[in-house]
Amino acid sequence: MRGLADVAERCGDGDLRLTVWQNLLVSGIPAARVAEAQAAVEATGLDWRASNVRAGLVACTGNAGCRFSASDTKGHARDIADHLDGRLALDTPLNIHLTGCHHSCAQHYIGDIGLLGAKVATEPDSDETVEGYHVYLGGGYAQNASIGREFRRDVPAEQVPALIERLLKAYLAERPGPTETFQHFTERPDLGRLQSLAEEKVPDVVARCFPRTRRSRRSSAPG
Ligand code: SF4
Repeated sequence: MRGLADVAERCGDGDLRLTVWQNLLVSGIPAARVAEAQAAVEATGLDWRASNVRAGLVACTGNAGCRFSASDTKGHARDIADHLDGRLALDTPLNIHLTGCHHSCAQHYIGDIGLLGAKVATEPDSDETVEGYHVYLGGGYAQNASIGREFRRDVPAEQVPALIERLLKAYLAERPGPTETFQHFTERPDLGRLQSLAEEKVPDVVARCFPRTRRSRRSSAPG
């Protein structure tokens, strides 16, 4: 924070602003000094770039600081971003909201993907639990106001990144184009069909959803 304050004073108007999406703005930087500010941010060990997944992640305090939380929401948010950033490039904004309990400080019900913390039994009828989430899809706000529909219950946290990867790859494969948002995509197929897409292994989804793309790449190869 001291490093960022220095960037704000040297390159900007001295202000740092925090957004409701838990991002940070260094404001008032003249265009001629943007490159200098970017280099200075990198020198702090931070990055001024963020993928659509990382930029739209919101997590409540979680069990690192709140006794109500069933899960480590902030740690799991990082896990989701790290997993997805290495596996897909999303060209549309997406909001993933992780909230540790039903108080919903991170408003999971209005995220494109909402995660509500839960203790998940390791076996049916077992008292042993792991951290996990109930999953909601299709929430939105403002002109897209909508309450997310419950999609899955009791997903162990370690399985959530791969589940979201399957959903987003199915979205990228099946949408007519980037004009269809993920929220609208979740309204289009019925929940049963989304459930089956999410069940499939990622290579199966990609092979089934991109057959023409693959053929056209092969046919356009030289020789
Ligand atoms: S949503 Fe629940 S767990 Fe998260 S900060 Fe609020 S009260 Fe705590």
